[in-house]
Amino acid sequence: MVKTKLYIVLLFLSISAFGCAALMQMNMFPVDKDIELGKQFDGEIRGNTKEYPILKNRPEVKAYITNIGNKILASPDIVYRNQFAYQFEVIQDDETINAFCTPGGYVYVYTGLLKYLENEATLAGIIAHEIAHAERRHATNQITAQYGVQAVLELASGHIGETGTQIANVAAGLGFLKYSRTDEFEADAYSFKYLRATEYYPGAICYFFQKSSDGRQSSALETFFSTHPPANDRLANVTQMLKDVGNPKPTEANLFAKRYQQFKKGLP
Ligand SMILES: [Zn+2]
Repeated sequence: MVKTKLYIVLLFLSISAFGCAALMQMNMFPVDKDIELGKQFDGEIRGNTKEYPILKNRPEVKAYITNIGNKILASPDIVYRNQFAYQFEVIQDDETINAFCTPGGYVYVYTGLLKYLENEATLAGIIAHEIAHAERRHATNQITAQYGVQAVLELASGHIGETGTQIANVAAGLGFLKYSRTDEFEADAYSFKYLRATEYYPGAICYFFQKSSDGRQSSALETFFSTHPPANDRLANVTQMLKDVGNPKPTEANLFAKRYQQFKKGLP
């Protein structure tokens, strides 16, 4: 059962779409279930210290990430600011360059990612992308589209019945661990929108796309590449968004590279 539950967590964190595009528009799942599920998964993650070793005793690291997250959450385009939990945690794993978010707003960032990035605005872009997955309710959308309301209710109730088990088995068997391409592009577009309301350069995630394209062979980026569309496609989209808003210029005043390098020095 523990294994089954873990697969379900993985499934929710990263789901691929093979469902009908029209169906994906509907989310018959009530918002308060996103909140319940998030709480449940957050508990699972915290309880699984082997898979998710949460950074302990370094409140300043968590505070730094939380501060960035809160700036993003202040954007007028955030809908569930008051309903979702919106918590930010760091997973101490230098071998993984990634971040993820459960339904209901529990955001996790790996130390591997923090060490990989060069400026604060890029980290903000990635955190905003994760927040967008929660805000747009991509996980429950996908589950609803693919497996129906019953499956989601089962998962939310914590009683994994026939449908829930079926989902878990499919997830485990196929190893499909990603959102749809459409959801990923939407998360990038919303991330851009959120960032425009902050002090950050909204196109900073492009630095990550560029750097990760150069490092394709890196095993630390394996999960990232298997769960996201090609960086070049995402780069092209964000470049277009920058053009649409008059090509703002990246400077130290909106990238915060110095402040970030200082922060990196203090990482365990
Ligand atoms: Zn994503």
